[in-house]
Amino acid sequence: MDDLIRETARRLATARRVVALTGAGISVESGIPPFRGPGGLWEKYDPMEFAHIDALMKNPEKVWKIFMGDMKRVLLAAKPNDAHLGLARLEFLGILKTVITQNVDGLHQMAGSTDVIEFHGNFAWLQCMDCGARAETVSVDLNIVPPRCACSGIYRPECVFFGEMIPREALVRSQELASTCDVMLVAGTSAIVQPAAFMPVIARQAGAVVIEINPEPTPLTGHTSHFLVQGKAGQVIKAVTAEVERLLEEKRP
Ligand code: NAD
Repeated sequence: MDDLIRETARRLATARRVVALTGAGISVESGIPPFRGPGGLWEKYDPMEFAHIDALMKNPEKVWKIFMGDMKRVLLAAKPNDAHLGLARLEFLGILKTVITQNVDGLHQMAGSTDVIEFHGNFAWLQCMDCGARAETVSVDLNIVPPRCACSGIYRPECVFFGEMIPREALVRSQELASTCDVMLVAGTSAIVQPAAFMPVIARQAGAVVIEINPEPTPLTGHTSHFLVQGKAGQVIKAVTAEVERLLEEKRP
């Protein structure tokens, strides 16, 4: 077994408070493309044209038609992979406290994680931009774009677009967890989008061990993170979880 997998498991099994920060890469093995990297959505779409709040306000029909249409198709079909399942198992074992996710796909909750902070909101709910009424995405016919509420206002997803604030509660709780955890697992994020990418910095400054899981190095690698376990999140987290279970079993009287 890879030494870094063994080292990660050892750190987790002996930690007091573990928090995970996840990004789009953790859902790649579930068939959802990330924003950046090979096969990323940015190869197809210009972020400022489709994922900025100004784009949605200026031309909601265009944003819904191209970007959201694609997102809905992949997001609603996706199922949790070994990475989501492994993190849920680590919570069940009493090792992992909270997942802070930048993802809007709901896969951590579907896998069984019960304490998930959705830093960038989620795609499961829509909100009318006029009257504020909410509707479950699955209940709205997205073949009609832009989708409209009974008041004829346009629905938007409850995701945080570029140019928007992070929901206050998500930000405050994440900062608190980052500054009090003793291990932070950072999986599948390019660590470019702020302020999410600052959470590992807070954790490191507060004395936590920061462990990255990613096929590629990121701006955190070699500075903020103590080490990078290079590989796909599903494979790495599955192996780490199995090793944690083995260590816990060993400790049992
Ligand atoms: P990102 O797209 O910027 O970066 C993806 C990262 O995942 C890269 O570092 C890449 O090397 C890594 N990666 C690729 N395949 C992987 C795998 N199998 N296992 C582990 N890592 C892998 O993602 P980001 O940092 O989360 O930032 C982009 C923003 O896009 C986020 O805010 C998120 O809200 C949004 N987004 C969400 C989804 C989703 O909900 N699934 C999908 C696309 C984008």
